[in-house]
Amino acid sequence: TSQTRGARYVVAIDQGTTSTRAIVFDHAGTIVSTGQLEHEQIFPRAGWVEHDPKEIWRNTREVIGQALSRADVTRHDVAAVGITNQRETTVVWDKNTGEPVYNAIVWQDVRTQPIVDRLAADGGVDRFRQVCGLPLNPYFAGTKIMWILENVEGARERAEAGDLLFGTTDSWVVWNLTGGTDGGKHLTDVTNASRTLFMDLRTLQWDDDVLAAMDIPKAMLPEIRSSSEVYGTVEASNLLRETPIAGILGDQQAATFGQTAFAPGGAKNTYGTGNFLIVNTGEDLVFSDNGLLTTMAYRLGDEKPVYALEGAIAVTGSLVQWLRDNLGLISSAPEVETLAATVEDNGGVYVVPAFSGLFAPYWRGDARGVVVGLTRYVTKAHIARAALEATAFQTREVLDAANADSGVPLEELRVDGGMVVNDLLMQFQADVLGVPVVRPVVAETTALGAAYAAGLAVGFWSDLDEVRSNWAEDKRWEPQMDEAERERVLRLWKKAVTKTFDWVD
Ligand code: ADP
Repeated sequence: TSQTRGARYVVAIDQGTTSTRAIVFDHAGTIVSTGQLEHEQIFPRAGWVEHDPKEIWRNTREVIGQALSRADVTRHDVAAVGITNQRETTVVWDKNTGEPVYNAIVWQDVRTQPIVDRLAADGGVDRFRQVCGLPLNPYFAGTKIMWILENVEGARERAEAGDLLFGTTDSWVVWNLTGGTDGGKHLTDVTNASRTLFMDLRTLQWDDDVLAAMDIPKAMLPEIRSSSEVYGTVEASNLLRETPIAGILGDQQAATFGQTAFAPGGAKNTYGTGNFLIVNTGEDLVFSDNGLLTTMAYRLGDEKPVYALEGAIAVTGSLVQWLRDNLGLISSAPEVETLAATVEDNGGVYVVPAFSGLFAPYWRGDARGVVVGLTRYVTKAHIARAALEATAFQTREVLDAANADSGVPLEELRVDGGMVVNDLLMQFQADVLGVPVVRPVVAETTALGAAYAAGLAVGFWSDLDEVRSNWAEDKRWEPQMDEAERERVLRLWKKAVTKTFDWVD
């Protein structure tokens, strides 16, 4: 297209859990510039986590400006915009005013456990699994919408009347970017839609039976589109006006795409607020026997959809934040490594951060966190070390589940995300996995994946092979722990996990 000709860049907007970023990428997939703003984490009660959708939209506008101005890029240099986002986080807003009716309810929020229990009373937690690939759990968007409809005054009536819109933050950002109350487009992509509980993985449409069981009016729901196509253009008052919006992928799927895990068996593990292992299963829908989710990997335009298995871990990097913010053990996230490195081992301490219950492979809403193995010998350094080890152990358990489901063990693990700068963690990860851990040069794979999806739709990149050739290895960690020691620490970890169960009163 004429838009693409001469345009040297693609912009990715990464609306994440802790911050919103805009990143300008060039044709080699290299970062040219970045804008980034954190938003407030709102914790109104134990187990509740909210964001202000208006703050997120303000930040989105601002980080676009930061990224463009830092590289002296204008909209004329930009071929397309791709969006990636924290998944499941639920926004409901009034389409006439653009005002959210409630804060965004964040994926980690567990307030809807009673709604889950109510739904599961009739058919168990796997009642919708054959349709949507997911167990009933507060994590997914569905019960968060129900909570808003049941608890915000007037919401149900306004939703039935067609005045309210639901969206994950991709939809919220796209609706605003395309004009909001003045013609904003209300849509999402298959990867985000697959995290609601009510998208049929086979038809890629909203499922009427599940919607009826959850009493969610269909009029609220966005249109489900592919992950890579032109959905519309940015509206007139924005710095990127008239630029096509051409890619949407939920953050974990975007990271998978950015790691170029396009072939069946391709996999990546992202270390952020939580950890998410995704294994591409190609055109096959695979249902896990081992606690993994069945989900979309991506769909490019009207090509066949690509599916995935996912091991979601709720708390990894956020345990480091907790050591910093709640315990004051460290003053910055990187300090956890310095502190942990002052001791040889964990001193017998295991931390299981079941802050919002346990996700994969356990799915125990009744679990709460534990620190076990305390003796008079233990120092804060052992606790820091045990906290990092918790990320690696949890990853080992979801990788075991993925290997059991696929029957073909992964030979190495591609990693990305905010925690993979942590050398001690990455070495321990290779040690407890017994396979190498590999980090690519561009560790911002989430934003990169969204850029690829958008760039492919407008011909900025010609095909997946071209994109794949951009991937390059930065660093590799080889396992060094002997097998007996690996078995010993794993056994103790699993024992520690059992101490978290059945704690919720
Ligand atoms: P998200 O995309 O989920 O917002 P990021 O990929 O930006 O998360 O990663 C941020 C997380 O990584 C935070 O939870 C932070 O505590 C953790 N983190 C950042 N630096 C380090 C480090 N050097 N060692 C361990 N954890 C870190």
